Amino acid sequence: MSISYTERHSPGASFSIEISRQLCSEQSRFQKIEIFDSDEFGRFLTLDGYMMLTERDEFIYHEMMVHVPMAVHPNPKNVLIIGGGDGGCVRELCRYPNIERIDLVEIDQRVIELCESFLPSVACSFNDPRLLIHYEDGLRYIRRFENTYDIILVDSTDPFGPGEGLFTREFYGNCHKALKTHGILVNQHESPFYSEDADACRKAHFNIFSAFPICKVYQAHIPTYPSGHWLFGFASKGLDPLADLHADEWEKLKLDTKYYNTRLHRGAFALPTYVNNLLKEAER
Ligand code: SAM
Repeated sequence: MSISYTERHSPGASFSIEISRQLCSEQSRFQKIEIFDSDEFGRFLTLDGYMMLTERDEFIYHEMMVHVPMAVHPNPKNVLIIGGGDGGCVRELCRYPNIERIDLVEIDQRVIELCESFLPSVACSFNDPRLLIHYEDGLRYIRRFENTYDIILVDSTDPFGPGEGLFTREFYGNCHKALKTHGILVNQHESPFYSEDADACRKAHFNIFSAFPICKVYQAHIPTYPSGHWLFGFASKGLDPLADLHADEWEKLKLDTKYYNTRLHRGAFALPTYVNNLLKEAER
């Protein structure tokens, strides 16, 4: 008899993965951390019962979080990741030799420790000498900085529980303050499909739009996230994700990616009409 992990994506729809075994289950100070193994998706991490990543499709999310801003910013040296305790964004950033410093602000040390133990293909760059890990709330951390970072990646959980504060006007306003002139903020921007996710997306977009002059959204297909249609926010003080894309320089780095490429970069910002309408509503 098979056992499954099931996540409710809406009041009327759920998503299930048959699991071969549970590798860990722990209640930390902040959330329930579970890691499972499965034939279809390999190992996967959930927090408070919500899917965070699977070995099979995490490359999509982490490549789109990191390579889009890295292909636009002219010379990023100093990067901040808020959340991201699984290490996927750290791994992708560490592939850039010009990056000098990465600050990772993760509220829950146990996420990092358990991902290092059970998800070594994702949590594989925590020993990079450029990385500094801060175990604290990103909402508080960001208040201390001005004109410091070239790129900020908000790789957080959803807008409830510990992640709630990372979707507020205060937080995005402080991100704006902490970014340098050519600064770029990228965040996981929820999904436009199911109403609860669409509401979260609309609220986040409204708050980012009120803090940044450039506020765009791009998309990717992530099979294990609700509806599979996932959005990312791209906000900046002036850089445009398409006009300022330096595709040739990026190609010259010869980074071997499985999802991101500079043609897809352009296409990812071409959103469905209903998504554009949702974002326009939020901008009113
Ligand atoms: N890719 C996933 C997604 O899109 O849902 C997120 C992955 S990562 C595991 C999310 C991380 O954000 C978790 O490790 C969680 O502990 C961390 N987190 C949540 N709220 C936070 C906060 N206020 N400050 C810092 N880290 C936070």
